[in-house]
Amino acid sequence: MKTILSGGKLLDKKNNYLFSELDILVQNGKIRKIGKNIEDSEAIVIDLKGKIISPGFIDIHVHCFPKNTAISSQPDDIGVKRGVTTIIDAGTAGAATIEIFYEEFIKKSRTRVYSNLNISSLGLRTLDELSEMKNIELNKIKEALKKYGDIIVGLKARASGSVVKENGVLPIKLGKEIAEEVNLPLVVHIGNAPPKVEDVLNFLGKGDVVTHCYNNKKNGLVREGKVISEVFSAQKRGVYFDIGHGSESFSLDIAKIAFENNFEADTISTDLYERNMATPVKSLETTINKMLYLGVDLKDCVEKVTNKPAEIFKLRELGELKVGYNGDLTIFDICDGNLELEDSVGKKIELKNYIKTEYVFIKDELIKV
Ligand code: ZN
Ligand code: ZN
Repeated sequence: MKTILSGGKLLDKKNNYLFSELDILVQNGKIRKIGKNIEDSEAIVIDLKGKIISPGFIDIHVHCFPKNTAISSQPDDIGVKRGVTTIIDAGTAGAATIEIFYEEFIKKSRTRVYSNLNISSLGLRTLDELSEMKNIELNKIKEALKKYGDIIVGLKARASGSVVKENGVLPIKLGKEIAEEVNLPLVVHIGNAPPKVEDVLNFLGKGDVVTHCYNNKKNGLVREGKVISEVFSAQKRGVYFDIGHGSESFSLDIAKIAFENNFEADTISTDLYERNMATPVKSLETTINKMLYLGVDLKDCVEKVTNKPAEIFKLRELGELKVGYNGDLTIFDICDGNLELEDSVGKKIELKNYIKTEYVFIKDELIKV
């Protein structure tokens, strides 16, 4: 199966495509050629004149395991149907439930699905998953990794008072020890204390990820107009910061202050699940549009949903327009008009320029968004 995606403008900072008018030849799911006026008599040609083509978008924070869990949607409802070709489930599954997640959802999805495995064995069956230390089971995590090592790209732990109850920072400390032992990044959700966010950050090191970085909670990373100093020392150690918009974790005002203080998130993600799909999160595209509103350049936004997540989670052959890589593409327009958006704390904005995803291309198939 051969397809030529013709006439689009390629956007991929890492490979120096900055709205470059080039064709892409995809054969059996892989990029075979990128160049001017590619011809191949056996190929199907799809005319994408005027559209922007980027590597398939990657959303590193979603919940897509809708079976006996507190929050989730079907993977494709969050993925390909919203312009995203790869999603990483943020700890909805744990070591005791990853098998069901794999067999009933991951295997059957058109979207590529990876897992940041919850350090609590039951994942998000309930929302106080780290209130019992005995649910953090190293041997079970190791077993899961033996079987699903290709799917599990990190470990996930939530550092909120409602999650850890009396355990404070202990689950994060143990989570970090386990992540080091199994050589995976630890992705940490930050929220209300305890534990104090400073204590959480101090456990994290190279390759770890903090999600919900622009929440406006008292225990957040921006306080009284300033970014706390622990953020910059964490960045120096190689810790990444992720947006993880969610129902209550993204404030436009906090993000603006963060930018003014040179604290820019490494990745853009949604924390999508059924209850925030209508509003305020909607889609990865919508979260990107909020970043555009705040002044982040489009090529940098695209980098934060393609090159960067692929690098952080070592997603092989994804996130770049490159020969030999998977032919996963997101195809979108830049629109003029009026688009009203809302953050997680009720602030409304209106955009004059925004992106709108039209199609994804994945596994040789063009899917209308
Ligand atoms: Zn969270
Ligand atoms: Zn989440």
